[in-house]
Amino acid sequence: MLKKYFKVPENIPKYSAEYAKYQYIFGFSLLFEFVMFYFALYNFFITKIYTLTILEAISFILLTGILIDLKKRENILHASYAVVILIFLLLLAFDIFAIKSNYAFLWNFSLPLTAYYLLGSKRGTIVTLLFYSFFFYYIMSIINQDITEQAAVNIILSNLIFTGVLYTYESSREKNFKMLNLLLANEKHLSAQFKELSVIDKLTNIYNRVKLDEYLETIYKRATRYKEEFSIMIIDIDHFKDVNDTYGHLVGDEILIKFTQCIQKNIRASDILGRWGGEEFMLILPNTNCIEARTLAEHLRISIEKFNFNYKFSNSASFGIATFTDEKSEAKLIETADHALYAAKESGRNCVKSKKDLKTTI
Ligand code: GH3
Ligand code: MG
Ligand code: MG
Repeated sequence: MLKKYFKVPENIPKYSAEYAKYQYIFGFSLLFEFVMFYFALYNFFITKIYTLTILEAISFILLTGILIDLKKRENILHASYAVVILIFLLLLAFDIFAIKSNYAFLWNFSLPLTAYYLLGSKRGTIVTLLFYSFFFYYIMSIINQDITEQAAVNIILSNLIFTGVLYTYESSREKNFKMLNLLLANEKHLSAQFKELSVIDKLTNIYNRVKLDEYLETIYKRATRYKEEFSIMIIDIDHFKDVNDTYGHLVGDEILIKFTQCIQKNIRASDILGRWGGEEFMLILPNTNCIEARTLAEHLRISIEKFNFNYKFSNSASFGIATFTDEKSEAKLIETADHALYAAKESGRNCVKSKKDLKTTI
């Protein structure tokens, strides 16, 4: 029960500045509530300074209100301002009302500490300077009445040095935090980029087999679940070995790139084109039945024949098609397309084959 009360809400990311602030507000307020409670009793029964008792009781109630509000609305910025303003007013009041009971000035340190931590180095400095302007003015006004000149100089200097050191700490902490966030964002960006590159074929700039396998698995599952249609097509360039033998590997690479462009020009944006390996390509065609896939393949076959590759070679490719109907797995689908491609090669290349052209049922 108590643990649940202290728990930082789940929507605040762990290790974020907000998370730390939430914990700080809770920890600091509870500690301050305890101190207020103690002094309220102490001043009521021992010193009998009732003004202070009232101040402490009000502070206790206000701090409880801030905590309840923070728990309810989870507005860390509002709670931060509320805590800082409360501490600001409370400490000034103590400095003024508790002068006779000494030591009140010691608590002043909790103002810059809280202001810097909760409001950051810029706003923290503004609030702290404002606080010390009031405080130092007050100190100057009571020199030689309630405190000596020597004591005033000591109080002012020690407070200034403490604030200076705190400012240095806070601003360097902020810089480091910013740098860390920048590094994290950069790493996120790099890993996303790396993930993207890992599924792209370096030569042709289209998907590689990793992505094709991944996409095939997804579309197969979806088609099974929603009874959708889709086809796959394996395209193999005819007599490609001759290109390498005649013109060399570099020209072979160039023709592979041009071949990719030729296919890309003739397919839909929703079709997935990838390099299956070597001079073989795969097309995954969502919402496409066998007849439609064959029509597309025929269109591609003619486009390849007409395409200007800059070098003389077969200018043709063979096509094997498989359509998702009742194939038992993605592997079976690929096997059918592979068999159809083999049949296309067997019947003289530069043609399209699908399951219905196969002699044996697979
Ligand atoms: P088929 O009509 O039966 O398909 O004959 P083919 O010559 O196209 O088939 P084969 O499997 O005998 O040869 C494929 C060739 O593709 C052999 C290989 O050197 C070449 N190849 C595969 N990948 C690349 C590549 O990235 N760049 C180049 N330049 N050639 C490649
Ligand atoms: Mg091949
Ligand atoms: Mg080939």
